[in-house]
Amino acid sequence: MKLNINFKDNDINLWGDWRTLLIKNPHLSLIVLSLAEKWNGQLTITSIYRGENDNSVHKYWHGVDIRTRGREKTALKAAVSYINRRFPYGKKGIKTAIYGTKGHFDHIHLQNMNV
Ligand SMILES: [Zn+2]
Repeated sequence: MKLNINFKDNDINLWGDWRTLLIKNPHLSLIVLSLAEKWNGQLTITSIYRGENDNSVHKYWHGVDIRTRGREKTALKAAVSYINRRFPYGKKGIKTAIYGTKGHFDHIHLQNMNV
């Protein structure tokens, strides 16, 4: 399957962030690619690195946001449980894929443990 990873607004900086993520956090890159595979190879990344908030996993290259626009709610929920089954976070009460809670209604947030 050909994977087609797109970036919000074709942002060149976001594309650069993706290249950095492949080196800094290859496991999270693999999680992103697994979600793309689940969606017939199509996926849009809307955010990777955000430096402004010390408490955000995005500051430490441990968070990626995925566009959900145009996808069925049932497909989104199925994808989230697929990722959480395949890639358990490894800490009680914390999920790898989050959608539909805590402000994550317009995107899927993917994260892995900061080790
Ligand atoms: Zn996020």
